[in-house]
Amino acid sequence: MKIGIVGLGLIGGSLGLDLRSLGHRVLGVSRQERTCDIAVARGAADEAVTDLALLADTDAIFICTPLAYVQTTVAQLIPHISLTTIVTDVGSVKAAIVRDITPLWRNFVGGHPMAGTAESGIEAAQHGLFAGNPYVLTPTEATPLDAIALIESIIRPLQVRLYHCQPDEHDRAVAWISHLPVMVSASLITACLSDADPASLKLAQLLASSGFRDTSRVGGGNPELGLMMARYNREEVLRSLRVYRETLDRMIHTIDQQDWTTLEETLQQTQAARTRFVD
Ligand code: NAP
Repeated sequence: MKIGIVGLGLIGGSLGLDLRSLGHRVLGVSRQERTCDIAVARGAADEAVTDLALLADTDAIFICTPLAYVQTTVAQLIPHISLTTIVTDVGSVKAAIVRDITPLWRNFVGGHPMAGTAESGIEAAQHGLFAGNPYVLTPTEATPLDAIALIESIIRPLQVRLYHCQPDEHDRAVAWISHLPVMVSASLITACLSDADPASLKLAQLLASSGFRDTSRVGGGNPELGLMMARYNREEVLRSLRVYRETLDRMIHTIDQQDWTTLEETLQQTQAARTRFVD
């Protein structure tokens, strides 16, 4: 198949690497010429330029720009592509994107691969990023079935775990397991930095190891991504943060009261519950 990718960064570049390995012809478009050159040199695209006209003759196009540019990119693509071209995106928020793009392009299927790293840009692209991870599609009642089938036929061979849900269901669920963790992890780093004793802060930085590496990873990632999660999924991010604040207050109370029985029960419950989210 001839597949277009707009936005050759971590996700777009990684998709390009895998789709080319599967035998597809990948045409890439990015904002900077330098990024396009690196994408071709790294094998993430057969051809890559800064002009959307390159994608005139493609079967499917993946929009992999930051969330803020998804809608304008689709609007700019429309004069170049045929009505049969299937367009999908990889944005981390779905309701706003699906609401804005569905009126522009009938053959649109919202999507979100649940995979990433702390890095960004084409240099961070890697083979096999999506394998074994969930990939959510958020078609609506108006989405043509053949458009969904075509996108599924492209992403299934990436060995993803494919799910369907409504865009607003997606946004509520990912607020818990993706967007809230970014805000909590960022707050953790900020709280550590606020230690008024420079010697204590320095010692903490020297002693930080696997626990801090795990808990600070998503808060120490691409700032643009966290900003877009909060801007485009504001209601759900706020809802989850407020519940988190209440949970934190309960934990403060428990420890303040030296209620070790309750704390132990809580930690036993979280130890058992974690496996329902991740292995
Ligand atoms: P990224 O590494 O920063 O890549 C985005 C790329 O888009 C940049 O390298 C930039 O390339 C290009 N770009 C920016 N504006 C553009 C425009 N107007 N037209 C064309 N290209 C443009 O970000 P990412 O992490 O891959 O995220 C991309 C999308 O994936 C976002 O919608 C995000 O929500 C979603 N997502 C991210 C993750 C994650 O964990 N990172 C996971 C799942 C989904 P230039 O160098 O050419 O400017």
